[in-house]
Amino acid sequence: MARLVMKFGGTSVADIDRIRNVARHVKREVDAGHEVAVVVSAMAGTTDQLVKWCEAALKTRQLFDAREYDAVVASGEQVTAGLLAITLESMGVNARSWQGWQLPISTTDAHATARIVDVNGAELIARFKERNEVAVIAGFQGVHRGTGRITTLGRGGSDTSAVAVAAAIAAERCDIYTDVDGVYTTDPRVVPRAQRLEKIAFEEMLELASQGAKVLQVRSVELGMVHNVRIFVRSSFDKPEDIDPRGNPPGTLICDEGEIMEQQIVTGIAFSKDEAQISVRRVEDKPGVAAAIFGPLAEANINVDMIVQNVSADGATTDITFTVPAADFERAKDTLAKARDRIGYERIDGAIDVTKVSVIGIGMRSHAGVAAKAFQALADRRINIRAITTSEIKFSLLIDGAFTELAVRTLHSLYGLDKV
Ligand code: ADP
Ligand code: ASP
Ligand code: MG
Repeated sequence: MARLVMKFGGTSVADIDRIRNVARHVKREVDAGHEVAVVVSAMAGTTDQLVKWCEAALKTRQLFDAREYDAVVASGEQVTAGLLAITLESMGVNARSWQGWQLPISTTDAHATARIVDVNGAELIARFKERNEVAVIAGFQGVHRGTGRITTLGRGGSDTSAVAVAAAIAAERCDIYTDVDGVYTTDPRVVPRAQRLEKIAFEEMLELASQGAKVLQVRSVELGMVHNVRIFVRSSFDKPEDIDPRGNPPGTLICDEGEIMEQQIVTGIAFSKDEAQISVRRVEDKPGVAAAIFGPLAEANINVDMIVQNVSADGATTDITFTVPAADFERAKDTLAKARDRIGYERIDGAIDVTKVSVIGIGMRSHAGVAAKAFQALADRRINIRAITTSEIKFSLLIDGAFTELAVRTLHSLYGLDKV
């Protein structure tokens, strides 16, 4: 007997038929004698709709009150949790739904981007023992103890709820059921020749997720790494009766580096279209200029990612280029315009049709020249590189958005990741 967390994403619970399929998966594990906590997302499209309603309710451009945004968007998961509990009960499985405030799942008060502080795992374990009861937990949401208000964890946050619950009940595994049967070398919707990875190290998954592969929320991977939760990504579309309880189902295990025998140099490629580029032209080349630019952006809570600064040719002025999330592009430009006297620049140029492509692999630590190959391959395709950043196990390239697919496919072949 094992204790398991099963998480089902939006597409997997998109309608009542799919919820029934999910319930059969849960019953399969219960019948095998396991103690099960299920974490569910809102039905596909629901959260997007709720966010749109929040935006429509506002008449001005001001940001909405994040407390009320959370009150609205948390509702999607509540519906799915109740529906799955009803379905399980109808199949003869004891089940009870839980919202974030009921369990509770305590979080910080950073509304819309809250972090989990604590999950009451003891209550769930007691119910496994006393009532043989499956817990169906609404993902994505929690509660701030001090204010008693509902919080949410940021888009894709149900993954993080699932890993936090797994850590709290000391689950043997956290199964993430989704609409693909594992983590691939890149997004299989963009590169049909992408291959499923048997295993991937936490660190690499962290980079893949933070550079744009939305299959897992970044924070869920961080939590898994810290609490050593084994995360297994698998498909919810398999028929429960086709799964051999003693076999190894297809999927990808996120685990410690040491568990992976054969390490490739490059493990995967991620890309993010949600980037914008800003160039501050002809700033003085003197101490304090970078602080004058990035200080106000930090105060405005705008995340700066890639930064490129040239050494000035004339010893007087230079350009500074950097990227921000596309959603913050206008706000970033306004912030710089307000700080113009302090910074001192000629003009600001910007572009929002840019993509950041990142190549990731632990093997890069011990191999030189991995990025150089990419520069040549993209040059051969006449793809211009606007900015470059590197770290120990990845490098990222900023390119024109129109070349995204060509660049990802080119790099995917270049590093031998294509399925043969
Ligand atoms: P869920 O609703 O189950 O949480 P998501 O839509 O959040 O599912 O994440 C699954 C999607 O992530 C897949 O449909 C796929 O298009 C996308 N994806 C991006 N990169 C990858 C990758 N490297 N491997 C697998 N899926 C990926
Ligand atoms: N429903 C939320 C979202 O769409 C959380 C999740 O699906 O993980 O972002
Ligand atoms: Mg998701």
